Amino acid sequence: MNPILQQAQTLHDSLLQWRRDLHQHPELGFTEVRTAAKVADHLRDLGIDVITGIGKTGVVGMVKGNGPGPTVLLRFDMDALPISEETGVAYASQNQGVMHACGHDGHTAIGMGVAQILAARRQQWPGQIKLLFQPAEEGLGGAMATIRDGVLDNPRPDVAFGLHLWNQYPRGQFMVQAGPLMAAADRFRIRIQGRGGHGGQPQDTIDAILVATQAANALHTIVSRNVPPAEMAVLSIGCFHGGSAFNIIAETVTMNGTLRTFNPHIRDLLIRRMDEVLAGVCAAHGASYEFEMDDFFTPAVINHQQATEVMRTAALQLFAAQRLGRISPMMVAEDMSEFLNRLPGCFVIVGARPPDAEVGPHHNPHFNIDETMLVDGAALLANAAITYLNHPVALSTSP
Ligand SMILES: [Zn+2]
Ligand SMILES: [Zn+2]
Repeated sequence: MNPILQQAQTLHDSLLQWRRDLHQHPELGFTEVRTAAKVADHLRDLGIDVITGIGKTGVVGMVKGNGPGPTVLLRFDMDALPISEETGVAYASQNQGVMHACGHDGHTAIGMGVAQILAARRQQWPGQIKLLFQPAEEGLGGAMATIRDGVLDNPRPDVAFGLHLWNQYPRGQFMVQAGPLMAAADRFRIRIQGRGGHGGQPQDTIDAILVATQAANALHTIVSRNVPPAEMAVLSIGCFHGGSAFNIIAETVTMNGTLRTFNPHIRDLLIRRMDEVLAGVCAAHGASYEFEMDDFFTPAVINHQQATEVMRTAALQLFAAQRLGRISPMMVAEDMSEFLNRLPGCFVIVGARPPDAEVGPHHNPHFNIDETMLVDGAALLANAAITYLNHPVALSTSP
């Protein structure tokens, strides 16, 4: 058996214990204080240089090899979600209303395991490995916060690797694929302005609810009628608020939603058509509108061709070829993209569905993962970093 996989297997109990401890004590984005302290203590115990407070609550560990060489960034996210856990497992969340419902507890545990593997093998590779334990992945801008705090400087990494446990796919499968993997995500806000009045005298009003429902219907035609069918796009309205009483015609309605795309031109098309549709529907009724795209934007996760080859080589050194799979791109977003936008890299989806338990999907109160993948995930990322540092292929700067 590959010695790195063998070493990861000796960490099985620790990985489980770390993950369950983190699972019991989940923390929301930018408040991962206990989690960050656990990570930092662990890294220091291994003799790894540690910087805390990167991107508010992030932690960076710098593992140095046997001499000068390239730099690898390995990224693990740490935050939980505002969800009340209903799994009933013995190690369920003790923090009411907060739950690790996306598997980031597993990612953090994997990162701690990777640190242990790398620290024991410092003599076997040149260069350095930056271990980033990132805060606030769940739509809060944690990756950008760490970039603003200099995680990509001194030294600048040559390549970035990361993974996500995903319980939609059977345990043991590794999706190592170049190109588009996860969508870009935008948030929008729409406000329809009508004229309120008496429910019995509609002739004197402009009914914002009527206008907004027509607008919502018309907006949903953009993906089916304006976006070329071979392109991928989603437009979802998640919030719809208006009105105050049964006998009052609503003056305003607000709608918030999200766009998911891969192609920037399609994103531009969606935004332009949304504005045109809103203008047309509102004009037909004498209403007015405001339409704003949130500043917050997560780019698409697009894996770099050659960096993905490095990851594939590393995976095949550890696992049988049939464990490498392929999936269609997912319309969920991941801010690993902020690193992959700036560096060559590869993000791996790790199948983690427990074979014999009913679990909910990601971001669900019944979510869980198959913990055996902690060992394999740690082995894979440690081996990918070591493989690259020992054979630093030239990576083109374009994906
Ligand atoms: Zn998530
Ligand atoms: Zn996630």
